[in-house]
Amino acid sequence: MGKTEFKAESKRLLDLMINSIYSQREVFLRELISNASDAIDKIYYKALTDEKLRFDPEDYYIKVDANKDRRILTITDTGIGMTKEELEKNLGTIAKSGSLSFKNENEIKDGHDIIGQFGVGFYAAFMVADVVTVISRSLGSEEAYKWESQGSDGYTIETTEKETVGTEVILKIKESTEEESYDEFLEEYRLKDIIKKYSDFIRYPIKMDVTER
Ligand code: ADP
Ligand code: MG
Repeated sequence: MGKTEFKAESKRLLDLMINSIYSQREVFLRELISNASDAIDKIYYKALTDEKLRFDPEDYYIKVDANKDRRILTITDTGIGMTKEELEKNLGTIAKSGSLSFKNENEIKDGHDIIGQFGVGFYAAFMVADVVTVISRSLGSEEAYKWESQGSDGYTIETTEKETVGTEVILKIKESTEEESYDEFLEEYRLKDIIKKYSDFIRYPIKMDVTER
């Protein structure tokens, strides 16, 4: 199946993310947890007005799973999920991102400063991952879709299976080199630190499971 190219501005943001400086990388987790929380908010508000939907707090949570050997970090939510069209629209173009709007070139040139301070959104995942896979099933849908991208060269979408409504964002954490290590993003204590630092206010439980293999 062919790859779909990102829109020009998405490409620029992706390049910025991929080349981000070390100290800012950790914010990727803040962005993904914030998206997960937004998605649960959406199902929560829907349940308030839709009698057929019951919001049972126990069913709504965010989970962070790390597998050290496979270098996989997964952020799972039981939120509203995305349809195929929403995956295309929301993850295919940065213009859809409400948190960051590029008004002029200077903002992009000074990008290193904006990464840490502002919400940079989903593409922040590419600061630490060389492959990002999103598996999602939307509320009310039986179908699930898998969106996958290795960065600037575009993304693919295909059908897949998913038992429950919600979204899984699967990061293939970059291999460490002599200059740079990404191993910390697979370490429980470090992940806990980052969550405490940036996501302490999230009102849904954040569970965690770190395994060696
Ligand atoms: P923002 O959160 O500011 O809108 P992002 O780049 O973080 O921008 O995300 C873009 C969009 O992708 C979100 O607005 C949302 O519609 C969708 N999205 C991202 N992650 C999820 C998720 N876990 N569940 C459902 N939708 C999501
Ligand atoms: Mg966001």
